[in-house]
Amino acid sequence: MTRLLLVGPPGAGKGTQAAILAETFGIPAISTGDIFRSNVANETPLGLQVKAIMAAGEYVPDDLTNEIVADRLSEADARAGFLLDGYPRTLDQVKELDRILAADDAALDVVVLLEADTDVVVGRLLKRAKEQGRIDDTEDVIRNRMSVYAEQTSPLIDVYDKRNLVVRVDGLGDVAEVTARIVDALAARGLASA
Ligand code: AMP
Repeated sequence: MTRLLLVGPPGAGKGTQAAILAETFGIPAISTGDIFRSNVANETPLGLQVKAIMAAGEYVPDDLTNEIVADRLSEADARAGFLLDGYPRTLDQVKELDRILAADDAALDVVVLLEADTDVVVGRLLKRAKEQGRIDDTEDVIRNRMSVYAEQTSPLIDVYDKRNLVVRVDGLGDVAEVTARIVDALAARGLASA
């Protein structure tokens, strides 16, 4: 049973690493960003509600986000562990995740903080904008996402540091290199891959 969080600024490579780590550990990667994007693409009621918020690089309200995660974590595949990518992002979301897990007498094992320099991540996101055409990858929106992260999400690191859960991993370098760093850091915490 492995319960992981992947945290880091936009463009640090969370999505890429989450997919690989999920495979390596045999757990589902749960990305709130992906859930929102697929709702936007399918024009569901939720998608219509969050589209403009995402396009501006702001956060979707906590109550909506928390509800989606509570639902997703109650699915059968997540009972055996999970890797959360992009959630929690606010202190309110931390509280909700604590509540969800406590209801099952569970807790997080490790919080992986993927670190990357701002200039590097902005460059990566602009490159992704050309490749994938994400609506929130324009330069202005990227800058806004960075400041929203700094204001609302970076305080979470302190919270999890106080619980001694955070491992810091350098997110620069090629994908396999970064994966190896994360796997090593998790192994040092007693978490072996499947
Ligand atoms: P991501 O793919 O994780 O960068 O998320 C893309 C966008 O989805 C964010 O900029 C937010 O608008 C929204 N989003 C994703 N996860 C959350 C969350 N935990 N809380 C609020 N908004 C979120």
